[in-house]
Amino acid sequence: METPFQVPVYLDNNATTPMDPRVLEAMMPYFTKQFGNAASRSHAYGWAAEEAVELAREQVARLIGAIPQEIVFTSGATEGVNLAIKGVAEMYTSKGNHIITCQTEHKAVIDTCKHLEKKGLEITWLPVDATGMINLQELEAAIRPTTILIAIMYANNETGVIHPVREIGAIAKKHGVLFFTDATQAAGKIPVDVETDHIDILTLSAHKIYGPKGAGAVYVRRRDPRVRLTAQMDGGGHERGMRSGTLNVPGIVGLGKAADLCRLEMEAEAARLTTLRNRLQEGILSLPGVVLNGHPSNRLPHTLNISFPDRDSNSLLLQFNKKLALSAGSACTSATLEPSYVLKAMGFSDERSYSALRFGLGRFTTEAEIEWVRELFRQELGS
Ligand SMILES: *Cc1c(COP(=O)(O)O)cnc(C)c1O
Repeated sequence: METPFQVPVYLDNNATTPMDPRVLEAMMPYFTKQFGNAASRSHAYGWAAEEAVELAREQVARLIGAIPQEIVFTSGATEGVNLAIKGVAEMYTSKGNHIITCQTEHKAVIDTCKHLEKKGLEITWLPVDATGMINLQELEAAIRPTTILIAIMYANNETGVIHPVREIGAIAKKHGVLFFTDATQAAGKIPVDVETDHIDILTLSAHKIYGPKGAGAVYVRRRDPRVRLTAQMDGGGHERGMRSGTLNVPGIVGLGKAADLCRLEMEAEAARLTTLRNRLQEGILSLPGVVLNGHPSNRLPHTLNISFPDRDSNSLLLQFNKKLALSAGSACTSATLEPSYVLKAMGFSDERSYSALRFGLGRFTTEAEIEWVRELFRQELGS
């Protein structure tokens, strides 16, 4: 069958996004002509690199309502999560040893907290309800005098469920506890503002927002309160001592450009993707026996997670893999045969958790693709 688009159709934008050609264009000079080390203060090559990095810092800050001095560049969100959580745990040992997080966090947060748990820190793993939301009363009740951090993601990578971040931030502030949010799926897709959301630390990643792989950032609040993190990488004292290592200038330029495009185009893009996602959702939910996973409305515009209870995810992926690029649960667990821990935490049966597919739409998803995918599901799974 001839199609006016590339097959397999890419619907795994929660795992990674293709790079926007405008981002690539911005990055290109920094691989060759402008190859300087941003830490070289003695010549024009270094100054040009530093200037490009400082522009990117402004662009990233602007996306989330921060100031440039609050942005620390990293290799991505996994590194950002490690710096945020371990950095707080080590810096604030005299204040306490208790961290509150949630069972449906990304593995980067879960495994970092497990690592600290083994080292003797106390971790509260908040449950979620059947829509994937935490309970705010439970969160507040979990706070102890020794609590040093609340780590709750902005939006979930498997279901797209958006947590009540503003309320979480307000609770953290009221109790004088730092609030870290993994905003890797939310930043650039929905409005995120560190001031109105009362966020103290935040992480994001370029390759989830149409930028390059291997670049990310951590926001670290500078006033009210001034947050301090113990560096996890020692060396030349780059990034105000919080992350040593020669800066990935092209990657950072790409992250900045990607953040800027998201800021300018987010509103229109979210509206367009909501329409396409809902169109796909209606089509697939009209098939017999299928169920939506995640909050019906409190969800990222581009994400759809659906279970096909009399099937299993891997056989579905096999059936469709010539035509569709999808994922079962999160990309990180798709190599194993474990059911999604996110769906299990929502209280679903093994059957429902083992039969979920995640559809992640993106900037380059077209209406023609979505109509084609709807028809494909109707043909293959309609009765
Ligand atoms: C992708 C993702 C990460 C990891 O980001 P990397 O930049 O690939 O390390 C962390 N958290 C969430 C919610 C993600 O979606």
